[in-house]
Amino acid sequence: MVLTDYTEIRALLTRHGFRFSKSLGQNFLTAAWVPARIAEESGLDADTGVVEIGPGVGCLTAELSARAGKVVAIEMDRALKPVLAETLQGRDNVEVVFGDATKLDLKSLAAEKLAGLRPVVCANLPYNVTTPLLTAILDAGCFASVTVMIQREVARRICAQVGSPDYGAFGLFVQWHCETALLFDVPPSCFVPQPKVTSSVIRLTRRSAPPIAVQSEELLFRVIRAAFNQRRKTLVNALSSQLGYEKSLIEEVLTSCGFDPRVRGEALAIGDFAAVSDKIVYRINGTL
Ligand code: SAM
Repeated sequence: MVLTDYTEIRALLTRHGFRFSKSLGQNFLTAAWVPARIAEESGLDADTGVVEIGPGVGCLTAELSARAGKVVAIEMDRALKPVLAETLQGRDNVEVVFGDATKLDLKSLAAEKLAGLRPVVCANLPYNVTTPLLTAILDAGCFASVTVMIQREVARRICAQVGSPDYGAFGLFVQWHCETALLFDVPPSCFVPQPKVTSSVIRLTRRSAPPIAVQSEELLFRVIRAAFNQRRKTLVNALSSQLGYEKSLIEEVLTSCGFDPRVRGEALAIGDFAAVSDKIVYRINGTL
C-alpha cells in the first residue's frame, strides 16, 4: 500500500470508519517525496532510535523504520489503532504508543524504549501543539536532533536572528539549546485535508553546551520573556514593570553594557541579553 496515495488513504480510512479531527491537527501527507525527504534529513542509521509524534496512517513512520534502529511512534487518536496495525504490519522495529505526547515523560520513554540507541525526534507535528511539544522535547534534554515539519511562520520564528521581525523569545529559547536549520517548505497541496498555511521542515541539533556561559540561565530567560512580552516598550520599562527592578538599576546596567537606556529588547542579540542579565546579577550582589 502507498501510504501517501490519496485514493488508497481514503479507502483505508473509510474502511476503518475514520473521521479527520481538526482539533488534533490531522493533515496527512499525500506527496511521497515529503516523508522520504524528512526522514533523509534526520541523518538516521541502525544506531539511531526515533521518537515520532503523530504517525497518522504511518507514511513517515515507514520511512523512518527503513532507516533507523527503532521507531517509537506516539499517537493520540485511538481511532488510528486498527489503521496503523494494518499499515505497519511486519515492521518489527516500530512500536506505537497511544497517548498524548504533551503529557508523556519523553525522557523516560526514550530511555526505556530506545536504550542503547542515539535518540532523535522526527515528525510531522500536530500544528495546534507545536510550541508545547517542542518545549517538552528540548526540556527532555536527551534528543541529539529534532527534525520536524511545522507551520512556516513558527519555523521562521525559531530560526530568526536579531533584526528580523520574526525574532523573539521562543526562537532564543530554541537557539540557546540547539543549532537551527530551516530546510525546505511544503505547500498545502501536499496534504489531505489541506491546511491553510505553508509548512516548513526544520532541523534542530542539540548543542553540547549553551552558546554563552551565564550566571543565571533562569534570570536570562526571565529578562528575555519580559523584553518580548512588551516588545514596543523600552527595555527599562519592560524589565522594571515585569521583573520589579528599579528603573535606575536597569538604566545603570544598560549603560554599563554600552546600550542607550531607551533601547528595546528586540535590538539585543543573545550575547547582549546574557551581558544584561549577568550585570543584573552582579549589581544585585553588590559587585558592580
Ligand atoms: N505523520 C502523519 C503524516 O505526516 O501524514 C500525520 C501528521 S498529522 C499533521 C499530526 C498527527 O498527530 C495526527 O495523527 C494526530 O492524530 C496526532 N496528534 C495530535 N495531537 C497529538 C498529541 N498531543 N500527541 C500525540 N499525537 C498527536
